[in-house]
Amino acid sequence: MYKGIIEKYRDFLPVTAKTPVVTLNEGNTPLIFSEDLSEEIGLKVYLKYEGLNPTGSFKDRGMTMAISKAKEKGATTVMCASTGNTSASAAAYAAKCGLKCAVLIPDGNIALGKLSQAMIHNAKVIAIRGNFDDALNLVKAITEKYPIELVNSLNPFRIEGQKSGAFEVCDSLNDAPDFHAIPVGNAGNITAYWKGYKEYHTAGKSKTLPKMLGFQAAGSAPIVLGHAVEKPETLATAIRIGNPASWKPALAARDESSGLIDSVTDEEILSAYKRLANGGVFAEPASAAPVAGILKLKAQGYFKDFKGGRIVCTLTGHGLKDPNIAIKNVGQPVTLNPDIKDILKEVGL
Ligand SMILES: *Cc1c(COP(=O)(O)O)cnc(C)c1O
Repeated sequence: MYKGIIEKYRDFLPVTAKTPVVTLNEGNTPLIFSEDLSEEIGLKVYLKYEGLNPTGSFKDRGMTMAISKAKEKGATTVMCASTGNTSASAAAYAAKCGLKCAVLIPDGNIALGKLSQAMIHNAKVIAIRGNFDDALNLVKAITEKYPIELVNSLNPFRIEGQKSGAFEVCDSLNDAPDFHAIPVGNAGNITAYWKGYKEYHTAGKSKTLPKMLGFQAAGSAPIVLGHAVEKPETLATAIRIGNPASWKPALAARDESSGLIDSVTDEEILSAYKRLANGGVFAEPASAAPVAGILKLKAQGYFKDFKGGRIVCTLTGHGLKDPNIAIKNVGQPVTLNPDIKDILKEVGL
């Protein structure tokens, strides 16, 4: 039976026989081949569909580690700042093992699905009049002073767990891809994937290393601009972050891999979001950023020397997290009388 990423990749993780493994069987997510994108880009494009984790995002890979280590240490309470998915994941894993969980979210800018998750798992949810960066600063100040475990990606165990995404990609493809495209918010995940790829390579589990391609939203692109953004804006709320905690390691991932970190507009994100859904894959807007990004790079001729190579895009979270944005961008259902003729006409028969 599959038992989650800690049991699967124990040899690569800082756990011992004494670590109490708190798991919801996260990981083992599908790597889906996209015919549509492969044809357009000219490389084989695979989608790592992280929306199929237990709470619907990749955050579960890091949270199983962070919560297991908090439990091992004897903590009673965990805390995080969140644009939504970290709080959903922290709340669920804390509930699984009886830890108290408090989350600070930016008031009014959290997707409905994510909020419902933190609430139903009984976290103490506190909306701050401020943005994510403000919330994270508060959580840092509180957890430095009080006996509460911080479970944001500043917690190194989060990165450790999240690197399992890279292991799974290599296991599925029998090597690393040529490129790995990923959204960048607080920049923990690009850091984690690069760490994972390097460790697998060192261990002889893969022969090559990918170029890391990170994508920020144009209104929240501090790394691309080279300075913090005071009032980050984007409809992709999961990457609406103006001062990423893992800024430096993200630059290292970019430079060591000879990759890049670029930005995509909300328009490009929405278009990629709908295109993914047209191909049967429902991912949240932030997850569409890497797809928008590789389409942008293709248009610039970036991939012309890599025909037939492989690109993996991490689709970080499930589309159901943010149902409002889906409905808003495709219109409402048609309402008809219960009449077969009218229905057939509407269907186009
Ligand atoms: C957290 C999150 C991101 C950003 O990941 P970072 O590690 O903060 O860069 C992107 N997409 C989704 C859906 C997320 O939940």
